[in-house]
Amino acid sequence: MSFLDAREHGSKVGSGGHASAQNEAIDRRERLRRLALETIDLSKDPYFMRNHLGQYECRLCLTLHNNEGNYLAHTQGKRHQQNLAKRAAREAADKPAQPAPNKRASVRKVVKIGRPGYRVTKQYDPETDQRSLLFQVEYPEIEEAARPRHRFMSAYEQKKEAWDKSYQYVLFAADPYEVIAFKIPNLEVDRSERFFSHWDTTNNVYSLQLPFKPAQQLAPAGGGGPPPGMPQPPPGMAGAPPPPPPFQGIPGMPPPPMGLPQPWALPPRPPGA
Ligand SMILES: [Zn+2]
Repeated sequence: MSFLDAREHGSKVGSGGHASAQNEAIDRRERLRRLALETIDLSKDPYFMRNHLGQYECRLCLTLHNNEGNYLAHTQGKRHQQNLAKRAAREAADKPAQPAPNKRASVRKVVKIGRPGYRVTKQYDPETDQRSLLFQVEYPEIEEAARPRHRFMSAYEQKKEAWDKSYQYVLFAADPYEVIAFKIPNLEVDRSERFFSHWDTTNNVYSLQLPFKPAQQLAPAGGGGPPPGMPQPPPGMAGAPPPPPPFQGIPGMPPPPMGLPQPWALPPRPPGA
């Protein structure tokens, strides 16, 4: 009796030990399943689908699963992983045939082709006693549908020359040409209709007429040898050291709108101006 009891007891202990090991395994699987459910968002899994019978399907492997945990276990299995690898390889092979999205929005790197040709004409309008500069920059190889731009730069903004508040700079830019800059007197620019830019798409010439306000030019020129009136690109400002070729004139270019250009010199700046 006691023997049997002992056997029963022993048997119970044994079976009881086996059952608890199973329970532990189930508990562990359940804990892992819950952990996986917490960490894996099945709504973002493109292959996870719940069918009308309440079962779960893997749309990649076309397998059925009774619960989410079973599905999750499947996704870690060999079959699903192999199918994932096959699909990735197939998509990689198909890719070159598809247009690359938004590639054009990336930053272009333009290979510069050198400085443009240019001409600068000094003009004087006796009626308004106004001096102006007419810049004409040739861009025969400009990029299609591009339009040249100009902008002013103060002596303090540029970093190529020593600061001199008597001067400012006007810059011209059009890809793929190098930017060129002209050193001009630091006089107030007349921003009326006499100030204009024009892009001649037939001859690819960009013109900028830059008039100075007349009141600034009443001081007589000469005497102390003012700086030469013709503006020059500052050395190094446009990149390569060799000067651009001389401007040969533009066929079909209308004459400057303010009559024949007359030479003029910079008025000396009154001290303390
Ligand atoms: Zn699968």
